[in-house]
Amino acid sequence: MGCPIGHFAHRTPSTFAQRSLTAHPPWIVSVAFPRYVKRSISHSFAGYSCNSLASTCRIVDNTWMQFLRRTAHNLFRRNRLVPSLGRVQPATTQHRVSLDPAHRRSLRRRTCAIGCILGALITGPLCSSAFAQQAIVPAPPDPAIAAALAQVSPDRIHADIATLVTFNNRSTLSSNDTDLPPGTGVLAAADWIFAEFTRISTACHNCLDVKRDDFIEPPGSGPTSRILKPTRIVNVYAVLHGTDPAQAARRVLVTGHYDSRSTDVMDTHAAAPGANDDASGVAVSLECARVLTSSGIKFPASIVFVAVAGEEQGLNGSRHLARLAKAEGWQLEAVLNNDIVGGDTTPGDALQDKSAVRVFSEGVPATATLDELHQIQTVGAENDSPSRELARAVVDVSTTYFHPTEQHAPVTPGRSHSMLVRLVPAFHPVLIFRRDRFLRGGDHTSFNLEGFPAVRFTEWSENFNHQHQNVRVAPATPIEATERPDFHDPVPAVPTQYGDLIQFVDPAYVANVARLNAATLAVLALAPGPPRNVRVSTANLDNNTQLFWDPPAGFPANASCEIVWRDTSAATWTNSQAVAGGTSITLSISKDNIIFGVRSVDPAGHRSVAVYPTATRAATFPMPPAAK
Ligand SMILES: [Zn+2]
Repeated sequence: MGCPIGHFAHRTPSTFAQRSLTAHPPWIVSVAFPRYVKRSISHSFAGYSCNSLASTCRIVDNTWMQFLRRTAHNLFRRNRLVPSLGRVQPATTQHRVSLDPAHRRSLRRRTCAIGCILGALITGPLCSSAFAQQAIVPAPPDPAIAAALAQVSPDRIHADIATLVTFNNRSTLSSNDTDLPPGTGVLAAADWIFAEFTRISTACHNCLDVKRDDFIEPPGSGPTSRILKPTRIVNVYAVLHGTDPAQAARRVLVTGHYDSRSTDVMDTHAAAPGANDDASGVAVSLECARVLTSSGIKFPASIVFVAVAGEEQGLNGSRHLARLAKAEGWQLEAVLNNDIVGGDTTPGDALQDKSAVRVFSEGVPATATLDELHQIQTVGAENDSPSRELARAVVDVSTTYFHPTEQHAPVTPGRSHSMLVRLVPAFHPVLIFRRDRFLRGGDHTSFNLEGFPAVRFTEWSENFNHQHQNVRVAPATPIEATERPDFHDPVPAVPTQYGDLIQFVDPAYVANVARLNAATLAVLALAPGPPRNVRVSTANLDNNTQLFWDPPAGFPANASCEIVWRDTSAATWTNSQAVAGGTSITLSISKDNIIFGVRSVDPAGHRSVAVYPTATRAATFPMPPAAK
């Protein structure tokens, strides 16, 4: 790996800017630094139109921007500042940095030191490894993906949910009913979803392969079985086949369940609108299909858009589809399950957070063998299952396509928050490090059980009056003050509306969930596949880390890998180092203190899911490819 800063230092700024301007669209970069830092920057960059009064520098050069990003992130992270990319527009990046007030004083003392470091960075040659390691910054936005996300329509999402509600009761068991009014019941809903995927396909010149996974579920045994006689279940899915023959076997998948339930899970006739649970998830799947198929993007890998039934009876539909996927050899790299993503809007509800969606992921893989469990326990890998790395990839994507604001996150009970001034994206995933909510399950688990990485998206706060409930209004019953001594004002007596009605769903919120899903699907389907056979050597007692891996099938010639890492106590990746070529690297960082991953990246910056290395005693490079 070269030494970019030492190299740049010998070029005059004007030569450099001209070269980059001819090769790239001009980047107009505003870098707003806290004034204590700014002085050293503006001193070092004398002549670069740094405005010492406004604390900004304007640099018309994308390479200098890269340098500033790296410098800012490395230095500010060390000083416990909170840098983040600001609003990003085509060819324009605004980089803002907020200062943790608690550290302002100590930073002031260190200003001189920072200036010295910056001076050294700019004027002197630098060891390549020291500079190549950098704090992770968001990948550059892909204009085609951004354009697709802009097409996500809350109106279409609302229309999808409204249509699904018209089937009255979408209980999976209703497929056995013969007395349903026409146009109601679960099979009518399946027909509509199939027709809708077909319409989407027609609009893209039959780009989708629309299919039914249609089967008879045998009755379950045991007193808690929710399927008492053979029951027809229909999953509907549409495949957008990858355009690269070498990568088309790779698949990423988005799903929601279209069956619904009322209070009695065996009741097939009472109204069960299921607007939030889970017409909202089906609407995400449909809308992702619409905007990605109409985007004009050629995805090398395949994308599968799914709506399953049987969820409320025991995940029967997704179980069948996951087993089908395994039997047919689908190379599923990501399953995004959306279940209850309506952003419940209930008057007076102070618990909801419309800026957040929870992303649940299992820690220890459901399919881990005894040997694998032993290694997970030995090396502390219980927080690095493939599903959890997928959840981290969702966060990585979100930082590119959802731009931070300078507002505090809403504070709701149970939501951790700090006194630090933080840049909080207007919409962002919150990683929940557990498979699912307490005592509850979802379709992602069916895929986990077949060994596929899968996560669940769910709104921040569920309103249990609006799921799994018959539609009804409970009369107002004034609560006696003695029952609620914590209430100092009279408790209002208002009727309570029960039922999963569309009036409680926020289409704008569902649209944000759809954008996050679509962005994740698009990035992962455009990125090279994740590296295979990622290993960390434990052959020597030393404080280095030797990593090696095999490229995935169909790895493009212009793609590369990068190492990511974080503290063992950190939730998401914090640092990265590019690997210019080859399939191994030795880092002078102790593997004992850090968690490493390896991921693929293409020249446009599309990043694969990271892969956690398994420990091996092998020490020599290259390793022979592991047996399949
Ligand atoms: Zn559900």
